[in-house]
Amino acid sequence: MCIFCKIVNGDIPSYKVYEDENFLAFLDISQTTKGHTLLIPKNHSDNVLSTSENTLSLMLPLATKIALAIQKTTNAQGFNILTNCGEIAGQSVMHFHIHIIPRYQNDTFNISFTSNSFTKEDLTTLCSNIKESL
Ligand code: AMP
Ligand code: ZN
Repeated sequence: MCIFCKIVNGDIPSYKVYEDENFLAFLDISQTTKGHTLLIPKNHSDNVLSTSENTLSLMLPLATKIALAIQKTTNAQGFNILTNCGEIAGQSVMHFHIHIIPRYQNDTFNISFTSNSFTKEDLTTLCSNIKESL
């Protein structure tokens, strides 16, 4: 059983901020910033790509509700709301979760998008290949 399923089962303690029949939100043990919270479906799925549309459709509204509660509590000035999908992308727990990461002036969380150059032709081909794969 994965570590988050153990949390759902109550086999491992957690700081639960929200719970209903299908979802659970609890403080991330790392607290990369104050209030860093994870939202998970209670039913195990490995990552966002293997989670049902119905579950996904319920989770973003819940994540924003929790973010607003964190904001009220901590005066966060912004949020990163994200999910890592796959080990290569930094996923370390293979039970789908959404990170709700409050942001503060001078906090230590670092997310940066580096730039790469592609030709117009590369981008045109890439774009049409993705479109055709939908
Ligand atoms: P990711 O790297 O996206 O898979 O994120 C997994 C997150 O789970 C990390 O931020 C960890 O700090 C967090 N985590 C791991 N174990 C626990 C736990 N027992 N309770 C709370 N958070 C945890
Ligand atoms: Zn699990």
